[in-house]
Amino acid sequence: MNSITLQVRDLRVHYYTRQGAVQALNGISFDLHAGERLGLVGESGSGKSTAALALMRLIRPPGKIEGGQVLLDGLSLLELPDERMRQIRLAEIALVSQGAMNSLNPVARVRRQIEDALRDHDVKLTGRERSEWIGELLQRVGLPRSAAEMYPHELSGGMKQRACIAIAICLKPRVIIADEPTSALDVVVQHQVMETLESVRAELGASVILIGHDMGLMAQTVDRIGVMYAGDLVETGGVEELLADPLHPYTRLLMASLPSLEQKEAARGIPGMMPSLLNKPVGCPFHPRCPDAFDRCMVEEPTLRTVRTNRDVACHLHSDAREVV
Ligand code: SF4
Repeated sequence: MNSITLQVRDLRVHYYTRQGAVQALNGISFDLHAGERLGLVGESGSGKSTAALALMRLIRPPGKIEGGQVLLDGLSLLELPDERMRQIRLAEIALVSQGAMNSLNPVARVRRQIEDALRDHDVKLTGRERSEWIGELLQRVGLPRSAAEMYPHELSGGMKQRACIAIAICLKPRVIIADEPTSALDVVVQHQVMETLESVRAELGASVILIGHDMGLMAQTVDRIGVMYAGDLVETGGVEELLADPLHPYTRLLMASLPSLEQKEAARGIPGMMPSLLNKPVGCPFHPRCPDAFDRCMVEEPTLRTVRTNRDVACHLHSDAREVV
């Protein structure tokens, strides 16, 4: 196993509303190894995007990181001064968000937008070197070099998302977080953009955290999966083992909700709703929706435990395993 690039420990985020504190992230912990592709999957409201923003230290009021640690090669990101963290964003850890393609400046050519990112991080390049690097970046993400001179409105959705990936990798970060990077695109373009992301990841030797709700897309893209529910990680494991033998009832239902070519019946949604994070149920947060719930589930919240090599789960059905330390 490669060395650990990112260590996340007990990361907690609350959003303060008039109704009270919304526990959006409830103390998640995981490791990301060098070159590894980790998928975070779950329904909307499960805390995936909050996790992405917290790792980048981009949680804005009324949200607040309430505790925990994020170590990037041993450097504690949550303790850095703001200016140092600004430099680390993009240079070491970059985010391609769901709305990234809409965040391109509509009145600036693609070249300018990449130049701005380089300048913002004090990258010293001659004009010629900068042009050469921008052309190379665009080619890496599958765009023609001529796209540098285009405005965002001249690009298709897929091309815009590729331009955003070019900006995200312009300083060769060690970690790329991709938050539903293809959700606004049609299925064919989705796969092309995912292939592009994978090829740039492999070229840079970067690690990727891919966030999404589509288990099918995850299965083709990542090495390991973390399943999130109501602000918690409820199951983690290698992608093949986890998909072949899901341990948490929620993971099983997520998989069953996938449309399948073999299944004649329509894909089923998961019954019930994600609980309010203002007022989570006592016991296991999944118990109101869980087909396997039993008495203990109503009173005691399960913690994430290692049940076998590279498999962790938070469920009382697997509670005689040793606890993660
Ligand atoms: Fe279902 Fe109980 Fe496991 Fe929660 S702890 S997922 S309610 S069986």
